[in-house]
Amino acid sequence: MIRRVREDHFALFVTENNEEAFLNRMEDVSYKIHELARRIQMPGVYPHYGVYWLKESESVEDGFSKARIAENFVSSDHAKHYVFYSEIDHNEMYENEKLEERFEEAIANKEFEVWYQPKYSANGTDIVGSEALVRWRSTDGSMISPGRFIPLFEKNGMIAKLDEYMFRSVCSQQVEWQQQGFHIRQVSVNLSRASLYYSDIVERYENILKEYRLEAKYIQIEVTESAMEGKADILKVLGQFRHMGVHILMDDFGTGYSSLAILSMRCFDTLKLDKSLIDQIGEENGETLLYHVISMGQQLGLHITAEGVENTMQLKYLQKLNCDDIQGFLFARPMPASDYENLMCSFVSNLT
Ligand code: C2E
Ligand code: MG
Ligand code: MG
Repeated sequence: MIRRVREDHFALFVTENNEEAFLNRMEDVSYKIHELARRIQMPGVYPHYGVYWLKESESVEDGFSKARIAENFVSSDHAKHYVFYSEIDHNEMYENEKLEERFEEAIANKEFEVWYQPKYSANGTDIVGSEALVRWRSTDGSMISPGRFIPLFEKNGMIAKLDEYMFRSVCSQQVEWQQQGFHIRQVSVNLSRASLYYSDIVERYENILKEYRLEAKYIQIEVTESAMEGKADILKVLGQFRHMGVHILMDDFGTGYSSLAILSMRCFDTLKLDKSLIDQIGEENGETLLYHVISMGQQLGLHITAEGVENTMQLKYLQKLNCDDIQGFLFARPMPASDYENLMCSFVSNLT
C-alpha cells in the first residue's frame, strides 16, 4: 500500500517475510523510480527509505513515525539509501535534536564565528586570499566543529540560513578591513547544494553586497562538484554569480567520483584540489595523476589551488607543477578574524 504524505514523501506499507526479500523488493522499486525519472528527463532522483518492522501490537502511526526518524539518518552521499530504525544511534539522534533546537538561538546570539584560513602564493611569499570556515562557539565555551553540524543542517535545510549568515559576516568584515586601510584579499565562502536550490539566491546575495557597498571581486564562492552535477538550474545560478563578478571555486575536486567532463563546463574559475589528491604526492601514480590534472586545468584556463598541503615535499612538488595557490596546515591553519588581521599586517604589501 502506498500513499503520498507531502511533496516527495511517501508512506509504503509492505508485507514480506524476511529482510532479504524486503530489500530485494525495495531495490526493484528504486530501480523503477530511477528508470522513470530518466525517461521523463529528470536525472538525479535518488529515492531513499527509513524502515521500521511493525510489531503486531503496534499502531501503524507509531511505526510510521519511527520509519520517518530512520529516514533522517540516510546519508546524503547515496552510499546506502535505506536505514532501519533498529540501526539508529539514539545518542546521536538526541545530540542532533539538541543542535537543531539551538540553531535559531545560536544565530541570534552570534555563536557562529567566521574563521579564516589563508591561501598563499605557491612560493609562499604572499597571502593571496583566504577561505571562510564556520566555527560554532557554544554558550558553554566549547567549540563545535563543522563536521558535526554541517551535514545535519544540510539535511534539514537550515544550512541555507547559515550560509547566508556567513556570507553577510564576511562582507561586513571585508568592509571593516577596507575602512581600516587594509589591502583586502579575496575571501571565499562555502555554499551548500541546498543553498543553491533557492531561485532567489543570486538576488539575495547581490543585495547583501549592495547593502555593504562591497565590490563582488572581493568575495568568492566555493561549491562542491556534487552540487553541480546534471543540474541545469544550478549551472544557471553559478553563471549569474559569475556575471555579477563573483568567482566560483570548485571545492574538493578529486573526492568521490569526480568527473573530467565538469572541467570543460566553464561554470567556474578555480579548481581546488582535494587533500586526498595532495596526500598521494610521493607515490608514482598519484603524482602522474596530479601532473595531468593540473596541466589540463591550466590549459582550460582554470586557476589551481591545492588544499590540505601539510609538508614541504608536497609543496615542492606542487611548485614544480606550477600550481597557483596553496592552502594547508604547512602555511597556516584556520584562525579567528583577529589573528588573520595580524597575519595580513605582517606582510609588507598590506596597507594601501
Ligand atoms: P572545505 O570547504 O573543503 O574546507 C577545508 C577543510 O579542510 C577545513 O576543515 C580545513 O580546516 C581543512 N584543512 C585545510 N588545510 C588542511 C590541512 O593541511 N590538513 C588537514 N587535515 N585539514 C586541512 P573544516 O574547517 O573542519 O571544514 C570542514 C568542511 O565543512 C569544509 O570543507 C566545508 O565543506 C564545510 N564548511 C565549513 N564552513 C562552512 C560554511 O560556512 N558553509 C558550508 N556550507 N560549509 C562549510
Ligand atoms: Mg571549501
Ligand atoms: Mg575542500
